Amino acid sequence: MAKLTHPGKWPPTDVAEGTTPRAWLRYEWQYPGSRRPSRLISHPTVPYVTAARVGGADGEIDLAALSTAAEHYLKQLKHYVNATPPPLGRADPMLDLLADVAASGSLLHWCDIWPKINAEPSRLEGQIASWNMSRHPKSAMPGTVILVATEGIPDPMHGSFLMRFPSAGFRVPIEVRATDDGFDLIIRGLTAEFPGGSHQALSSLLAGRTDAEKRMVLGGLSRSLSGVPLGFQAGVAPATLVASSETDTGDAPVEAAVSDDASSATSPPPSDTSSVPPTPQTGAQPAARSSVYRMITMLEDDIAKQAGVVPKSLLLQDIRFSAQPENVTDGAWDVTLTLLARGQDTPRGEPVSYRLTVRVRLAEPGANEVELLSVTRVPLVSHAMAGTGALPTPLPFVRVFPVPPPDWRASMARVPPQPAPPLAWRRPTRVDQILDLFRDTLAIGLGSGMKMQQPAYEVRNCPRFVPGDGEARLPKPLPITGLSDLPPRRNISSAISAYWHSKTFFDTMRGLGLAPESYMATAEGPLAVHYRSGIVPGPGRDGRTINAQVRYEVAPDATLQSKPSIDMHLALANLNRWARVKAGTSDSQLEPLGMASCGRWMMHEFGHYLLAARIGQLEFDFAHSAGDSLAAVFFDPLSDLSSPTYPGDPRMRGWTFPFVFAPRRHDRTPAMGWGWYGLLNRSVIEDPPDSGTEHKAYLTEQILSSTCFLLYRSLGGDTLAGTEADWAQRTRASDMTLYLLMQGMAGLAQSPSRAEMLEVGMEEAGWSAPASVSLPRGGADWQPATSHKVTRWAYETMGMFPSDPSEIISKAGAPPLVDIYIRDRRPDVFPTGDGPVKVGPGSYVPVSLHWAADADWVTPGWLPSFGNRGAVAAGGARLRAWVGWVLNDKPLAQIMERSVVWNGQVDIGPFNIAPDAADMTLVQTDQQQITQLTTAARAAAPAGTQLVVFYELSQINDRANTDPAADFTVKIGAAASPPKKVQALVDLVAGDNNLGLHMAS
Ligand SMILES: [Zn+2]
Repeated sequence: MAKLTHPGKWPPTDVAEGTTPRAWLRYEWQYPGSRRPSRLISHPTVPYVTAARVGGADGEIDLAALSTAAEHYLKQLKHYVNATPPPLGRADPMLDLLADVAASGSLLHWCDIWPKINAEPSRLEGQIASWNMSRHPKSAMPGTVILVATEGIPDPMHGSFLMRFPSAGFRVPIEVRATDDGFDLIIRGLTAEFPGGSHQALSSLLAGRTDAEKRMVLGGLSRSLSGVPLGFQAGVAPATLVASSETDTGDAPVEAAVSDDASSATSPPPSDTSSVPPTPQTGAQPAARSSVYRMITMLEDDIAKQAGVVPKSLLLQDIRFSAQPENVTDGAWDVTLTLLARGQDTPRGEPVSYRLTVRVRLAEPGANEVELLSVTRVPLVSHAMAGTGALPTPLPFVRVFPVPPPDWRASMARVPPQPAPPLAWRRPTRVDQILDLFRDTLAIGLGSGMKMQQPAYEVRNCPRFVPGDGEARLPKPLPITGLSDLPPRRNISSAISAYWHSKTFFDTMRGLGLAPESYMATAEGPLAVHYRSGIVPGPGRDGRTINAQVRYEVAPDATLQSKPSIDMHLALANLNRWARVKAGTSDSQLEPLGMASCGRWMMHEFGHYLLAARIGQLEFDFAHSAGDSLAAVFFDPLSDLSSPTYPGDPRMRGWTFPFVFAPRRHDRTPAMGWGWYGLLNRSVIEDPPDSGTEHKAYLTEQILSSTCFLLYRSLGGDTLAGTEADWAQRTRASDMTLYLLMQGMAGLAQSPSRAEMLEVGMEEAGWSAPASVSLPRGGADWQPATSHKVTRWAYETMGMFPSDPSEIISKAGAPPLVDIYIRDRRPDVFPTGDGPVKVGPGSYVPVSLHWAADADWVTPGWLPSFGNRGAVAAGGARLRAWVGWVLNDKPLAQIMERSVVWNGQVDIGPFNIAPDAADMTLVQTDQQQITQLTTAARAAAPAGTQLVVFYELSQINDRANTDPAADFTVKIGAAASPPKKVQALVDLVAGDNNLGLHMAS
């Protein structure tokens, strides 16, 4: 473990003594009345920083170092929040619980770090870990680690191992930043989630009990539950089997490397035998495998019979508890098991997998008397209705729709002589010759005859829907010839499209710093894409439906495959026009336009994959998915519909699925009920579903996509080059938004109960990121720490941060209590599809982020004026100003890459900035200081260069991102200057209303 130096007092005295702690400390409990306890604690600009010295005798960054830092942090946070009197108005008993994580009696335990630091990626045992988000080879530091703790109890049969209950716990994101002699470990908050509904965390059930009572209850529970089975227990490898794709046949997905003789009937041997105590069983009967597993074995037949699933397929995912207070010590507890299981085969094949919720009653912990109370099942399905690098030369080219036809626009290089084809031509009902206008010939990156297969994904044969197709379960090969002129309505075109869009998605994911092999935690194997398939359950089973779906597939035998796989099933884009191929021959058949032709729909399905792979649910509890957000944000900068010169209805830009149509939009506003606390979202807020067992949040998906789309627009998605769209800047903004969204999802641990958890996760993705990241589709490197205020604003504008969450709110939420700003030229009114929305000054309303003296993101005059969006006065604010000039070191076309030479600075103040008042201006003596600075710079600047002044307004409750006290990677130290690159200046200033920039015209 590294040698750690913890901060002496945190929060620092000047912050702690403030009278409005909520101005710097966001501290949220669950929605009032919700039975699902949670906490969201965030203080981005008041970081907790532990210095870690590493190397030699000082050790390394490891779980011990990170958890020790987190434990010190939790103690100081608790000391502050639960002081007498409590500064937030009430003390928080849950914080006591979290801060006790290291105590001997605590039921909370840190999870191992995965992928391991300084190691090649390996399979995750169990389904939850402390996520190592490093972008370096071997997951080396620096990087971000999401430290995760869950409840668990020691397994008496397995010594050092824990039985973990993943749905109760918390996460502490830690930025590990390199310093001269090691690393800084930087913490800016945490989130916690505990089971909801009738369930309670073990910690809560046992709160207030004597040590003797706790020992008795836990001893009994651990006897009842010990030896918990497959896919559940960290540290024990359940699978002792080797997948062998060469021998894959029929229903046997894997071949056992060891005998699976049921009569031996012991627990599967662990993979790392050196660290695992011998299994205790001596008997020869399955019952010797005591435990929930025994419980399941005893109940298996009943469960299987009631649920219609294959008995041997049961995979335990989670255990939750409930008990009446008077029964806590006598052991009459109800235990809810969450299991995955494979449905029984049906005459028509294609079994569905299910999530089972099984309630049992323990007569007495340890006594193994179990009564089955209820079994419910939910199908593990979720569906949509209710840039390429350098390529090796010999690879074939294929015809694909790189964007759906309505999005298609002629490239600048080949402007057609005639106007772009009308929207009416761009429908799935059109004949092949018309649809082909919207396809491009692109290199697929696979050799002819090669299987459409990568480690993370593969396109599977679909013999049930495509006569003559190869063996199901095997990847489909690319034909040897005839690729370049395949019409859209061909099954093979659907397969190629499915591969193309999968490649696009996974290339994007990797480009954003998420390697699928270190992302996939709760499932395993490649994503299997069934390019022509049916939708189950229901009438779409025959594949003649306009739909697509992602499913979990549980193997028939849990001892052979301890985690499910994830499959995507694609049906049709259009039902009523089919192409007749091989007409007049005995092989004659009709072939349709596959759903795979629509990249936006596939992006929606990849949203389910991202959730399923990481948090083990196909859907968020608070929203259907983030798939509409991915589709809207990824395709907008590629779409003709977003062009300011698009000749049709500009509201087309807000349709998420304009080709294979679905009536969903990503330009909603709270005014029409589409706010986070608006009418359409009330049922989700007030009674969040418990662990992915219900599907009630379809509408929320559009609130989320509208939020992410607004974020994208504010980050540069509306940028213009003259009167045309600046597609390069918009693509960059799209990648930035996808980074925040996908990294935010990757940092989730316990399934988030509230959208706020994703919101803060996207803020964290910004402030805990490496100083600079490159973006997959190009554009200059980007500093994610410039983004978090815009993220908050986008959610706020969509109605999050309500002043009273129990009211139905049809407008934006509240700004931070202190939100000082430097006035820019942004408008006070925000035009939307639902009509104009008033936002006031200091907002992040989407405007063009181009470099020009009259751009809306810059200040109108040389001298700044400022105000306060918040409700609390900002005392002691200071203003720093730097003056410089822009070198003509790049041609005009590369203006964003030009350099600035900084020539001097001043630091003035303090100011008291009252809320809701007219903007303040500087007094004359302060004005003179700035005038002197600009005069000196003008005298020193080479002739013909453009003078610029950069302003930073900062205050203890609302620090600028560049304020050294906030300790973001974008800080500007006392003797330092703002960034030199024009692009970096635009990112900083447009992303923080505490910053202002003025340039000479
Ligand atoms: Zn969906």
